[in-house]
Amino acid sequence: MAKVTLLSYTPEPEKTVAAAAKLCYSPAAINSLTEGLTGEESGKFVRRLAAMGHESPIEHASFTFAVEGASRSLLAQITRHRIASFSVQSQRYVAETGFEYIIPPEIEKIPQAREEFIKAMREAQDSYNRLAEILKNARFAALLEEKGLEEAGLDEKKRARLLSQAEKSAIEDARFVLPNACETKMLVTMNARSLLNFFRHRCCLRAQWEIRGLANQMLCLVSGIAPNIFAKAGPPCLYAPCPEGGMSCGKAEDVRRFYKKIPSS
Ligand SMILES: Cc1cc2nc3c(=O)[nH]c(=O)nc-3n(C[C@H](O)[C@H](O)[C@H](O)COP(=O)(O)OP(=O)(O)OC[C@H]3O[C@@H](n4cnc5c(N)ncnc54)[C@H](O)[C@@H]3O)c2cc1C
Repeated sequence: MAKVTLLSYTPEPEKTVAAAAKLCYSPAAINSLTEGLTGEESGKFVRRLAAMGHESPIEHASFTFAVEGASRSLLAQITRHRIASFSVQSQRYVAETGFEYIIPPEIEKIPQAREEFIKAMREAQDSYNRLAEILKNARFAALLEEKGLEEAGLDEKKRARLLSQAEKSAIEDARFVLPNACETKMLVTMNARSLLNFFRHRCCLRAQWEIRGLANQMLCLVSGIAPNIFAKAGPPCLYAPCPEGGMSCGKAEDVRRFYKKIPSS
């Protein structure tokens, strides 16, 4: 399961959102915007905005998460969320000699499946290492030729620099054999409005297990910080009939019970 840490967030997120709301609906001067915005008062503003469906003021509150132990498969899904910022450990610059991988729980629990999976990971690793070596040697030779140099005539420093250049170019292509299971790390920043949309999509039981697990952890973290903003966060079936029609999981009651367990929701 991916592990997520809340690295940083807008200080006093609900007060910031409430100030934005106050600006919209009152003649308050800028220097008096935060006057009287106690936690309780800010909470009232935030809840009023939610009831009206006026979501843009909550964009002023942002949250930055550090995610580790996630698969490249999760990466492909989370980066579909365009209203977000991502920094991802690069397979172009970081060699995957000895990559970690995520084993899906359904594979983990069947010994034969687990064995097959681990075999595939080892094979991928071996292919990657072999390819990286072949490509590095070829690139090194090409660099020597381009620069009109002889390997024997290189001092240690120059040789190390050329090898490092060759390796970077090699791993750029060798990574094509790496699996979706490959572990990655990333920083993700989303504003509260985008997070609500993320939770609507990814806390749903129809979302894939890994990103759903991540979304639930993120929801726990932000609910503790901004309970009013995220009071109704989660899949759409929490407060209305499931919109998935024929694709519905049919487990809305279980889902509602589950989300009652999340602190502050
Ligand atoms: C269960 C599930 C199954 C999925 N299956 C697939 C699949 O099979 N194939 C696939 O490709 N994707 C799939 N997705 C991904 C999905 O289609 C979305 O790309 C993803 O959930 C991001 O959602 P989003 O666009 O709302 O988020 P964001 O990109 O963060 O956008 C947030 C909101 O901004 C608005 N917005 C953003 N960009 C635009 C734009 N260009 N034009 C108009 N409005 C915009 C929309 O209102 C959008 O909801 C799946 C997602 C889920 C949860």
